[in-house]
Amino acid sequence: MSKKGQIVVISGPSGAGKNTVFDGLKAKMNNVVQTVSVTTRNPRDGEKDGIDYYFVTKEEFLEKIKADEFVEYVQYGENYYGTLKSEIHRLIDSGKIVILVIEVNGAYNIKKEFPESKTIFIIPPSLEVLRERISGRGQNNEHETELRLNIAVEELKQKDKYDYCVINDELDSCVDEIYRIINE
Ligand code: 5GP
Repeated sequence: MSKKGQIVVISGPSGAGKNTVFDGLKAKMNNVVQTVSVTTRNPRDGEKDGIDYYFVTKEEFLEKIKADEFVEYVQYGENYYGTLKSEIHRLIDSGKIVILVIEVNGAYNIKKEFPESKTIFIIPPSLEVLRERISGRGQNNEHETELRLNIAVEELKQKDKYDYCVINDELDSCVDEIYRIINE
């Protein structure tokens, strides 16, 4: 039987620093890969199609739902996000540690589908910090910032459903802790 990679799901509210944490992990471990999700949201400055996301129209996303191409998908704010079955299986088969950086409902569905996966919730130091980070991105207008903060409050309520919770008040120690969790 071929060696299968480990699945690690990282969640946390928008602005909790999930992607920065992943970058920190990647610098410490050369055997981690992140799945590229499909989304209907517009690319932010510097984001590239096929690298940060597969950017599609809503119609294209709905077609993929109909064709049963997703292992999980959600509507988040005013957009859709989803993980392709093909993407996750391709990466698992490579034997690497597969990291999914996704929101809470997606995490729940992945855990159901892959019970041996580890789920990690990243907690931001405070809601004030979160607000600063979200609006500081300059990519979200006031309406979107409020929407993301409201979702963040709801997501924080679900942190106890995760296998592990890690506070991201200091990036290096947050990355170290996740490194330990993955390797234990
Ligand atoms: P953003 O627009 O900030 O890139 O992402 C918004 C939220 O959607 C983040 O919490 C991000 O982790 C989550 N997300 C990104 N891709 C997926 C996905 O494929 N599935 C799910 N369930 N959430 C995703």
